[in-house]
Amino acid sequence: MITYVEKKYRDNPITQNILKQYPNASVLLISNYKNIFDKPLAKWVEKSMIIAGVKNAISEAPKWYGHEGYGFFFKNSLNCIYDCSYCYLRGSFRNNTTVFFVNYEEIQKQIAEKITQVRKKDPDTPIWFYSSDYSDNLATDSLTQFTQNFIPFFEWFDNVKMEIRTKSINIARLLEYQNIRNTEIAFSLNPSEIIQTYEHFTPALDARITAIEKLIEQWYQVWIRFMPLIETKDYKNIYKQFLLYVSEKIDFSKIYSVFIGWLLYTKRDYTTLLKKDPQLDILYTLEDSRDGYYREKQEVREYFYTLFDKYITETECNRCLEE
Ligand code: SF4
Repeated sequence: MITYVEKKYRDNPITQNILKQYPNASVLLISNYKNIFDKPLAKWVEKSMIIAGVKNAISEAPKWYGHEGYGFFFKNSLNCIYDCSYCYLRGSFRNNTTVFFVNYEEIQKQIAEKITQVRKKDPDTPIWFYSSDYSDNLATDSLTQFTQNFIPFFEWFDNVKMEIRTKSINIARLLEYQNIRNTEIAFSLNPSEIIQTYEHFTPALDARITAIEKLIEQWYQVWIRFMPLIETKDYKNIYKQFLLYVSEKIDFSKIYSVFIGWLLYTKRDYTTLLKKDPQLDILYTLEDSRDGYYREKQEVREYFYTLFDKYITETECNRCLEE
């Protein structure tokens, strides 16, 4: 494997931690990660990874994305070690090399500045920072030490929260903390049939449920995101059986919040994904909503709403990206 490292971050402790775990990788020093990342990689190129710094880590989340209040994404990594067929990241970048941004102090400075900016005009409304929109931070935590750097950082603020969205069961590090107020772990769940067909290399449903149980026992505010709900063959039966199963296994009265959401792409991402993977059957179930997005059909969404309201009764099922 080749590891490209921006010269400026060669001695960064996170860089050193990552390199330590790949003692046989060839390390190539580079001046700017974009020189590699912004070019399509030829098929014959060896598997590689990039360690770099990011200048603008924060971007605004769309309205209705998550909780009420101000919402921002922050990026500390690009591309994911998992390979979900439906992932919008497959259409987002010129190549699929994983990039780790290790300039945590700078990212945290940008987050703190954003909080100050918002607080000047609005002292009370909650502010949410969504991590893991460009990767799965928990899955790579042993490399990036993300949780030990960002969970304590967010504890400094009032009414400011970080969401770590994940399919990973890599929770050992999380279990070391106690009394954390400002981090929520949002597990993404889907039926086993969907996981096996479309969520390649991700942990099985039962393993995710076990991780959820452990975190709840410990102290964590756990979210569940039933996303993306997919109109696969026999989906009505598959999702019904799935909800019967999870509502027996998980005590939803202890779940902090539940969101449901479906496949949704911008026109650009949809077209790119379709070009990359014309065999991907679920893309053909979506409709052009004429508001710039491709999403599940209205009747399918209605079916999911009714089903979730019927089986998840202990807590409200919030709808993601829908008024
Ligand atoms: S886990 Fe999330 S970020 Fe990773 S490939 Fe799947 S959908 Fe994409």
